[in-house]
Amino acid sequence: MLKISIDEIVKKIKEKTGLDESVIQKKIDEKVEELSGLVSRQGAAHIVANEFGVTLFKMPESGFLKIKNIVSGLKTASFVARVLRINPPREFKTKDGRQGKVCSILVGDGTGKLRVVFWDTNQIKLIEEGKISEGDIIRITNCYVKEGLTGIECHARSSSRIEINPKISEKIPSIEELQELSQRVNISSISDEGTYEIRGAIVNILENNPFFDVCPECRKRLNGNVCEEHGEVKPKKSIFLSTIFDDGTDNMRVVFFGRQAEILLGMSSEKAFEIAQEHNNFFYPIESKKQDILGKELIVEGKVSKNDFSGELEMIARRVILPNPVIEAKAILKELD
Ligand SMILES: [Zn+2]
Repeated sequence: MLKISIDEIVKKIKEKTGLDESVIQKKIDEKVEELSGLVSRQGAAHIVANEFGVTLFKMPESGFLKIKNIVSGLKTASFVARVLRINPPREFKTKDGRQGKVCSILVGDGTGKLRVVFWDTNQIKLIEEGKISEGDIIRITNCYVKEGLTGIECHARSSSRIEINPKISEKIPSIEELQELSQRVNISSISDEGTYEIRGAIVNILENNPFFDVCPECRKRLNGNVCEEHGEVKPKKSIFLSTIFDDGTDNMRVVFFGRQAEILLGMSSEKAFEIAQEHNNFFYPIESKKQDILGKELIVEGKVSKNDFSGELEMIARRVILPNPVIEAKAILKELD
């Protein structure tokens, strides 16, 4: 637990949002109430800060951030990462006729990927002359971070220091390992199949029979009672949610199977099937949880591919993160009931 007082948290929220202190205190009171004694007032303050997107974590001593902690709005970000891709420098003309150059690269560490943009001709020269190549580790200081067209971008300043393959004690994953990691993107920028991470909310759940049979051993989908690997088995129920997911830039269909759907529903497939049978309505368990699910912020990582039937791109979720701890707390409370 971070040793940070409620007063400090309130101050940080105030700085970021410009809200009145009394409003923030009231939000914290409401959160304490909402979680009915599950968390301390300090804990509630952390949750409220999180909801406002205020980061409270301390920078590590070295001052270098992990990519997952690099968020839009940071004024001085420094990090160590491996170069995954270099986009060739591009010339442009400003409105007043000046010539400029810009170059962007994609870097990654074990926690994520990040687009880094260079405007300084000396820095771009490092790339043009091949002093920075794909696979190199770079250490950059003093960048600023903003939301770009395709997601978060980290912009180097002329004063940013760039070190190429510095001596470091920590291990940065290889290019091959990093390629497996997904990149956080805006939905509007997804035009190809691939693995991505998106942040937004489910705005609708399509009504259908969400249950299907799986092998109790390997959890693979069954057709009838026979698993290719395990022969004749007694099928288990699993559940899926077919949703419309929106991040403010666009929306796309995201499908949650099995465990991912269970996380969203806060109940096991078996329990959901029981409830469906009680109500003689396959969609009932989802309907009953709709208000908890719709509009709640989620981070979803998954594979995007073209749906054979509709021809549209859709994502199959493979990891769901609930950035809002309130939902998690509620799920735990329900679990205990
Ligand atoms: Zn099986």
